[in-house]
Amino acid sequence: MSTMDLTLAARRVVLPDGIRPAAIGILDGRVAAIEAFENPPPSTAGIWFNEDEVLLPGLVDTHVHVNDPGRAEWEGFDTATRAAARGGVTTIVDMPLNSLPPTVDPAALEIKRKAAEGRVHVDVGFWGGAVPGNLPSLRPLHDAGVFGFKCFLLDSGVPEFPPLTHFELADALRVLGEFDGVMIVHAEDAEVIGAAPPSCGRRYRDFLASRPRRAENEAIKAVIALAHRTGTRVHILHLSSADALPLIAEAKAEGLRITAETCPHYLCFTAEDIPDGATQFKCCPPIREDANRDALWQGLADGVIDMVVSDHSPCTVDLKRLDTGDFGHAWGGVASLQLGLPAVWTEARRRGFDLSRVVDWMAAKPAALAGFARKGRIAVGADADLSLFAPDQPFTVDAHELAHRNPVTPYHGRDLHGVVRTTWLRGRETRDGALGQLLTRGEV
Ligand SMILES: [Zn+2]
Repeated sequence: MSTMDLTLAARRVVLPDGIRPAAIGILDGRVAAIEAFENPPPSTAGIWFNEDEVLLPGLVDTHVHVNDPGRAEWEGFDTATRAAARGGVTTIVDMPLNSLPPTVDPAALEIKRKAAEGRVHVDVGFWGGAVPGNLPSLRPLHDAGVFGFKCFLLDSGVPEFPPLTHFELADALRVLGEFDGVMIVHAEDAEVIGAAPPSCGRRYRDFLASRPRRAENEAIKAVIALAHRTGTRVHILHLSSADALPLIAEAKAEGLRITAETCPHYLCFTAEDIPDGATQFKCCPPIREDANRDALWQGLADGVIDMVVSDHSPCTVDLKRLDTGDFGHAWGGVASLQLGLPAVWTEARRRGFDLSRVVDWMAAKPAALAGFARKGRIAVGADADLSLFAPDQPFTVDAHELAHRNPVTPYHGRDLHGVVRTTWLRGRETRDGALGQLLTRGEV
């Protein structure tokens, strides 16, 4: 066996087949050996971890809005990827909207890459966007290396990224089918939202009423119907309405290629506990009632929901309208990239899930969605993207100590369990600087 560059040994390592003691040998940035804890591979350097520490694969967060270039005052590549690294996330995939230009053609993708180049602390891939009129750009964007395409079925919140009609979605799915692309969908129905009372004022109950569950349920029905017709792979973003779980379960049972994600905030918070005026909790679809949250956890337990990703979607402090607390005017989006793991873990352990399940939801499954063969698990040949996690260590969230750009998050003041102590990207500690690479489909 070759001599490793580094060996990391822990009493608890989260491997694809469970949690056990192991010594992980790293050579040239990849995992090159997985040996018994007592029998580490020959190595130039080695670290033996404490009893309270668990070695995890680096998490993969496929739902991050970096907003750079164009709205870099909301978030940027440097700050977002620093937050990711501190949160044990070693790969993010950036959403195609909220930056300017949006990533809807190869020229825009190139502008994104230039903005990110040399400034990222974790690996970064990009989603493309499907908007009215850009059908001819989908194949070129795929060839240029995006990992799939995002679309909306209602107003996205920014004018430069308009929604698709159902007809346009059908056309886009047909194009994606030609190269086996995946369509990731913001599934809320424009008509249902349009018929609901508009959101205004400080009352969370009124905001919730403006984004009813039926909007998600109807949109998901439509996506499933079109996926049936075209056979194209689809993915439901940020599922909040637990009423849609039977629809997704049935589609999966029929063999449809559909996956779904939910987000830490839908699993941690409840509408009943959100104070009026607390617009840091505003996101779309909204955080719903306690019983809905229980049902989402059941959906994860049953495998109907495949994964948990952040939907980190920050903005400047003033756009959150914390002064007036008006939900109608505040930007919708929750900032949480650094906190996903402890937030989900704190709630998961209370509900009796073990850390392997959490890692499956937050690393292996998102990696599979994007098609990352070398990410999301600790296995020989995989990139040595790892994090050291102390699952029992408590802490209180202070928004001002987080690395993302603007110190706003609904987790501020919340007591959580689980501290990420070190993160490695391809075998190097992320605190060593901007080690991240820009990922291209087919090369990772
Ligand atoms: Zn989003």
